[in-house]
Amino acid sequence: MATLLAEPQRTSGPEAVHLVQGKSDEFNWVFFVVIAAFHLGAVAALFCFRWSSLVVFLAMWIVGQNVGIAVCYHRQLTHRGFTTPKWLEYLMVVCGTLTLQGSPIYWVAVHRMHHQYTDRSGDPHSPRDGKWWSHMGWILHGALHNETTMLSHYAPDLQRNRFYRWLAVWHWIPITFSGIALLACGTALGDGGWACHGCSGAYCCGLPSASM
Ligand SMILES: [Zn+2]
Repeated sequence: MATLLAEPQRTSGPEAVHLVQGKSDEFNWVFFVVIAAFHLGAVAALFCFRWSSLVVFLAMWIVGQNVGIAVCYHRQLTHRGFTTPKWLEYLMVVCGTLTLQGSPIYWVAVHRMHHQYTDRSGDPHSPRDGKWWSHMGWILHGALHNETTMLSHYAPDLQRNRFYRWLAVWHWIPITFSGIALLACGTALGDGGWACHGCSGAYCCGLPSASM
């Protein structure tokens, strides 16, 4: 039943690095506080409903979850299903960072592991390890979060790219600036709830897709 191993392990063969998810003793408090704040913002958004805010919510959901994660992080970068001009790829990658699902190197590496070991030992977020684990536990208790260097072996194509190496550290910058921009624009236009609706649209609707 259980597919988790106690610790992340690395075994080097002639060409392969084998890395598996483990349950860390450390609770990821930083991420917990951030996602808790986003959920509180999403609840607050329900009490300051305006049609313009709903439009912002839907726009950010389409941009973040559909374009950024489903199209770019997943189909384009992870599975290499298609190519686009580099400027368009980078633009869509930035859209993906708005969802708080991590840098493209982290996301792609974890998702390639998921496909390699689906529901077997080594799957980073298998429901066979429990519904809570596959939903949020692997994010809050997973040991892979701090294994950026080892994870990059699953995404060498992205690791060679300077922009993606930069995003591996600074992927939180686009969502920070977009939140500030939404707050400023919404306030200027008389609707300060844009930031809540926009950020919840980009982030909260995406959690179910994190394990697709
Ligand atoms: Zn996939």
